[in-house]
Amino acid sequence: MEKIVSFCKKRGFVFPSSEIYGGFSSSYDFGPLGIELKNNIKKYWQDSMKQEDNIVGLDSAILMNPMVWQASGHLTAGFADELVECKKCHHRFRKDFAKKNCPDCQGGLTVPRKFNLMMRTFVGPVEEKASEAYLRAETCQGIYLNFQNILQTMRMKIPFGVAQIGKSFRNEINPKDFLFRTREFEQMEMQWFCHPKQASGFFDSWLKKRLKWYAQIGLKVRTTEVLKKDRSHYAKKQIDIEAQFPFGWKEIEGIHNRGDWDLSNHSKHSKQDLRYYDEITKQKYFPYVIETSVGVERLFFALLCSSYEEIKGGRSEKSIKEAETVLKLDKKLIPFKAAIFPLVRNKPEIVKKAKDVFNLLKPFSIYYDETGSIGKRYRRADEIGVFWAITIDFDTLQDNAVTIRNRDTMEQKRIKIKDLIECFKKQFFPMD
Ligand code: ATP
Repeated sequence: MEKIVSFCKKRGFVFPSSEIYGGFSSSYDFGPLGIELKNNIKKYWQDSMKQEDNIVGLDSAILMNPMVWQASGHLTAGFADELVECKKCHHRFRKDFAKKNCPDCQGGLTVPRKFNLMMRTFVGPVEEKASEAYLRAETCQGIYLNFQNILQTMRMKIPFGVAQIGKSFRNEINPKDFLFRTREFEQMEMQWFCHPKQASGFFDSWLKKRLKWYAQIGLKVRTTEVLKKDRSHYAKKQIDIEAQFPFGWKEIEGIHNRGDWDLSNHSKHSKQDLRYYDEITKQKYFPYVIETSVGVERLFFALLCSSYEEIKGGRSEKSIKEAETVLKLDKKLIPFKAAIFPLVRNKPEIVKKAKDVFNLLKPFSIYYDETGSIGKRYRRADEIGVFWAITIDFDTLQDNAVTIRNRDTMEQKRIKIKDLIECFKKQFFPMD
């Protein structure tokens, strides 16, 4: 855990937020490499949703009418954790994290009480009850509110889905474990509206699709069905997809059958008819919703844990004694696909050639590095998952070819500069 946290900081993936003021409880900033990885994760999710039939996108507001959260059940007991307080040091904990005694000083604990997780704020200049609002606790509510808008404007027919990525906020009692549990995080959620009789079949097919998606990004996952007593308040059925963290197997994504909980409750509270009219059967009904919901940062963290490898004694140069790090992230997700290295930097012809190659491949995510020995540059690139290290050497000046070294196999092959773009596309964008 400490290794991953310090690696994230050292290589520009994740910085503690407000660090110069001593940080701020469980808040993090994503650095130059972190944002590349995060964007690649989101893009791959979005692209795979777009490839499905009948899925449209949405970007709904974080701030909504507070009635939304009354209707969804989030302001009632449904979205509250049990809080206990240590009678000695007065630290507060989620009951399931504290067990019998205070984890900090072993003091006795108070009787648990419900603590609502909605993050409250005030809208407008007057801090009074009338202007109270909430930061959304899940992105999907915006999708239900726009159900009729999407039906009408896009002429959708059931079954269909709406996919959305966005920030969510929860006033977690004990945010902890780096990016795993924070108060501000991003979710990638897809809501699939279907006839109630088809919900169970779609639940199974969405679970399968999501598991395939994880296989495609090389993340080992497992599933756990959640018992009724532990399910979210809206869920008729819930299967968690879990990944391995330094502290064990934990949920990264929930697949939920939300039944008609959301649409029927919003109908009741808003007094708007949110039923779907089936033109063929002439039936009006509340569709059921199958939801797939994954946290971007949790997935980001799981991916780093699974791809971070330390090789003792080094692997590229026998003389290197210290451990070498290789980030074996999937090619689709890596922050930089390739790095361009001139073998030496005191030979202007080689530097010029290297810059030409850099400019040629610039539209793809690559970087240029001329400092340090070639071995050091390889190691720096391996550490951040760069898949191809492209070296321009003395021979390049004669044969117009470069050496490409593969991150995982360390195999080297020569490729003509004129064939580079073609090879690059074949290696990294085979579908285009
Ligand atoms: P948990 O039981 O860990 O609190 P949850 O079951 O309440 O999570 P969901 O409401 O199903 O989570 O949210 C879907 C996904 O959103 C989770 O699988 C997780 O990846 C992410 N998520 C939820 N809460 C947090 C959080 N506090 N910090 C980071 N990611 C979160």
